[in-house]
Amino acid sequence: MIDYAPLEAWFVTGSQHLYGPETLAQVERDSRAIVEGLNNSAAVPVRVVYKPVLTTPEEIAAVLRDADAAGNCIGIIAWMHTFSPAKMWIGGLSRLRKPLCHLHTQFGRDIPWASIDMDFMNLHQSAHGDREFGFICSRLRMQRKVVVGHWEDGAVHHGLSVWLRAAAAWHDSQTMKIARFGDNMRQVAVTEGDKVEAELRLGYSVNGYGLGDLVARVNSVAEGAVNELCAEYESRYGLMEELREGGAKRESLRAAARIELGLRSFLEEEGFHAFTDTFENLHGLEQLPGIAAQRLMEDGYGFGAEGDWKHAALVRSMKVMAHGLQGGTSFMEDYTYHFDPSGPGVLGAHMLEICPSLATQQPSCEIHPLGIGGKADPVRLVFDSATGIAVNASIVDMGERFRMVVNTVDVVEPPASLPRLPVARALWQPRPDLNTAAAAWIYAGGAHHTGFSLALRPEHLEDFAAMAGLEFLLIDGDTNLRQFRNELRWNDAAYGVSASR
Ligand code: MN
Repeated sequence: MIDYAPLEAWFVTGSQHLYGPETLAQVERDSRAIVEGLNNSAAVPVRVVYKPVLTTPEEIAAVLRDADAAGNCIGIIAWMHTFSPAKMWIGGLSRLRKPLCHLHTQFGRDIPWASIDMDFMNLHQSAHGDREFGFICSRLRMQRKVVVGHWEDGAVHHGLSVWLRAAAAWHDSQTMKIARFGDNMRQVAVTEGDKVEAELRLGYSVNGYGLGDLVARVNSVAEGAVNELCAEYESRYGLMEELREGGAKRESLRAAARIELGLRSFLEEEGFHAFTDTFENLHGLEQLPGIAAQRLMEDGYGFGAEGDWKHAALVRSMKVMAHGLQGGTSFMEDYTYHFDPSGPGVLGAHMLEICPSLATQQPSCEIHPLGIGGKADPVRLVFDSATGIAVNASIVDMGERFRMVVNTVDVVEPPASLPRLPVARALWQPRPDLNTAAAAWIYAGGAHHTGFSLALRPEHLEDFAAMAGLEFLLIDGDTNLRQFRNELRWNDAAYGVSASR
């Protein structure tokens, strides 16, 4: 359900008529070669589409207007091969709504010392042409990404890839529909927020549905489909004894399969890409969706527990950004600390709903009591997360703005097995260290829920935050708590908020 194939980024080259047709023809050939080079790079995940060289304000306005209107165009990559007087760009850029990436490159990598003359100099002008373009973007206060380097350099492909992935997620966010079954967990603050403001700023729409509508779907699932899904569970996961054919809890597995099928058909038919539920409002459902939420996430759906629509949206966006990359992406919660000085860490998990894309080994399919909610025991997949560098990201509503907090973490093997813990989990060491990271996170008001990814790096989220106009706060190996707290104060000033009420 995530597909980059139809997506395009438009490559526009700025120039002017001053140089004459011969030079403009060369500019066109060079631009086409760069587009071809980018499309031939395995690191560039979205098709780059060449657009004719722009030399007048009318042409510029027209192509940027077309980009805004094109349903499959996720953004503009702009490059000034020669000097393109930037007042020509004011009309087009000031109306552009799609993401902009300024590729600051030069066609030839090296200066040909022996042969360089003024003709060569007049063709290869991006060193100053792109500065003129940069000025007008800054003067217009445009959000954009600047990627610098020779266009054949892997670092440039990486920079473009990060931006393209963020732009793909931003594109997805504009039409994302989120279904909520039940409201927030009662009295919880951080999962609340302004859904009108979210739709205005982030594009996605969040709407509530009666549990009865979902229950009707679940109850009308054909028994044959339940049999087939139970067989799939059996083939893909290690089923505990009670859940197997003839086992004491076999009916619970069937109930879980029925919930998955009903939920999936509801989401598919209405075109939802994310959903929330809450254990406090499950009227008519036998169990809290566990394996259902886990498997839907694995298929690319965003999910937020306890009515947390902001993190349902974020998980979906992170899944779009991570499409095709190594490593899983999941809804997550900071659950329990290990304060042992010899190896402090955070045990991340949830009551049930962790995405099996994190697993490296076959998950085991188990049933255990939930302890809260008063429903039947839910079926869930249990596994350990893969290890490696990961990010935890959170979005909170600060009232006048949405804030994204990101922490880089190192996922490690648990020092011992956890035979009595009946949920999927990840153990990580936050950077720069647990105490600093947790203090910074708490000063920033980051949520206990997060989007967690072994595939993404902070720069993906940073690019996404820039496109979305989110405040972006990073906690990583360079974080100094005093500096971080100042950043919070200064950001309040930047957003025009009084620091104390
Ligand atoms: Mn939770």
